[in-house]
Amino acid sequence: MIRDQETFSILLDTIRRFVRERLIPAEQQVVDSDEIPDAIVKAMREMGLFGLTIPPEYGGLGLTMEEEVLVSIEMCRASPAFRSLAGTNNGIGSQGIVIDGTDVQKRKYLPRLASGELIGSFALTEPGAGSDAGSLTTSARRDGDHYILNGAKRYITNAPEAGVFTVMARTDPDSKDANGVSAFIVERNVRGLVVGKPDRKMGQRGAHTADVVFDNVRVPAANLIGGREGAGFKTAMKVLDKARLNIAAVCVGAATRMLDDALKYAIERRQFGQPIAEFQLVQAMLADCKTEIFAAQSMTLEAARKRDNGGNITLEAACCKYYASEMCGRVADRAVQIHGGAGYMAEYAVERFYRDVRLFRLYEGTSQIQQLVIARNLIRNAAR
Ligand SMILES: Cc1cc2nc3c(=O)[nH]c(=O)nc-3n(C[C@H](O)[C@H](O)[C@H](O)COP(=O)(O)OP(=O)(O)OC[C@H]3O[C@@H](n4cnc5c(N)ncnc54)[C@H](O)[C@@H]3O)c2cc1C
Repeated sequence: MIRDQETFSILLDTIRRFVRERLIPAEQQVVDSDEIPDAIVKAMREMGLFGLTIPPEYGGLGLTMEEEVLVSIEMCRASPAFRSLAGTNNGIGSQGIVIDGTDVQKRKYLPRLASGELIGSFALTEPGAGSDAGSLTTSARRDGDHYILNGAKRYITNAPEAGVFTVMARTDPDSKDANGVSAFIVERNVRGLVVGKPDRKMGQRGAHTADVVFDNVRVPAANLIGGREGAGFKTAMKVLDKARLNIAAVCVGAATRMLDDALKYAIERRQFGQPIAEFQLVQAMLADCKTEIFAAQSMTLEAARKRDNGGNITLEAACCKYYASEMCGRVADRAVQIHGGAGYMAEYAVERFYRDVRLFRLYEGTSQIQQLVIARNLIRNAAR
């Protein structure tokens, strides 16, 4: 739902202008330096972009899901690396605390996450536990007022920048499945926590991932999210339901940008004495892009409204993430095709976007995992 259309329109207009005037012109600098420029990070902080989804009582803007989706669509007309920096604070890096944290945990961490002073990361994946995240082996053993964590996490977004991690670890050593998993808030500067070197990735330069290793890391028991053992995997899945809707919106934004670029190129580029946009085979590619973007945007907004109305959106979030990320890949491919040889050259943004958006079909659950979630929910609902 949109609570106050006028105020929200001002926010969207401000973000649209910021994307056009600051982010898109800085894209090449981000590629060259593999960093988001400090001035842009500062501007993002001042605009409240790190706290979009954090409740106002903790210093955030407290956007509804529908509002968040609309903001992500605008933000992701620029390189996805910009969104990624603030993305974990608004999504997987804070929502475990927002959804299931105790009052004390919320008061202690959310204001600094909302301001961007602290970067939050979400550490679920391990070398041996990716799609089968419930089989994770990082352990958390109770020792008086503390837990002692041991294990390794892999491909953790913003780990090099993070000040705090939401870490899923096994508190029941006899369990093998998700029921023995708990979620912890782990601060960066604790003895035994080591963040690896940033990974070398296919795309999204400026956005970083790394391994995080826990070697007898002592975490206060007060940092067990919600104060309950065994609830951590459920917390992670609630976080991912919301995050998947957001990734669907991210895909709509990136696909819109690629279509904008392809359309502009098709109108300017002339072959056989006329703009290539006049050729019906090129028009078909443009039309297919627009149709699929519209479909992904519509379904994502519909699911967002359902969540805002208190509905369970596990199935819809998987549908949106699955369809929108696959759609984004198809749009990227057509956008390169419309550019011809230029689409293979680094001076055109579509070459970079083509690589950047490949990630969306992989993280926060691969397309195959979304298919499994959708089918499992269909079958379960049919049995009721
Ligand atoms: C850039 C990047 C950032 C990331 N950020 C984070 C982060 O911040 N925090 C975090 O915790 N994780 C993060 N991840 C990890 C990401 O969520 C996992 O990579 C993803 O869930 C897939 O796990 P995997 O890589 O182990 O692949 P695998 O699980 O090994 O899958 C390999 C292939 O097998 C398929 N497959 C697996 N199981 C099944 C099945 N049951 N049925 C059908 N097919 C199946 C998959 O779909 C895939 O095609 C990130 C990954 C990347 C690349």
